[in-house]
Amino acid sequence: MSRSVENISVEKCKGCGKLFMSPVYVCSACGSEEFEPEVIEGEGKIYTHTTIRIAPEAFMDQVPYHLAIVELPHNLRLTARIDLKEGEKMEIGRPVSCIRKDDVGYWFELR
Ligand SMILES: [Zn+2]
Repeated sequence: MSRSVENISVEKCKGCGKLFMSPVYVCSACGSEEFEPEVIEGEGKIYTHTTIRIAPEAFMDQVPYHLAIVELPHNLRLTARIDLKEGEKMEIGRPVSCIRKDDVGYWFELR
């Protein structure tokens, strides 16, 4: 079964083309303050991960939930929710794909 992979919105420096996760105000490479929207494919791998069992009040009804820092192309990293299926386990280096974005942020699943 093939699923569609969601794109991730990023910011592209108009000075040098370097990509950043938003929001960004000054380019760390060239000092430019001008950016334009860009998207990258939501495919990456788990850089580090954790499972939240005690959450801020707004998220208490969702525990336990899974968070990972996902390493994306272009040296970008993103904190995202991981939608784990029964029996699945997060591991560093595990490939993940972005499946959706909602008001808590981007969601990935194991590939
Ligand atoms: Zn730049």
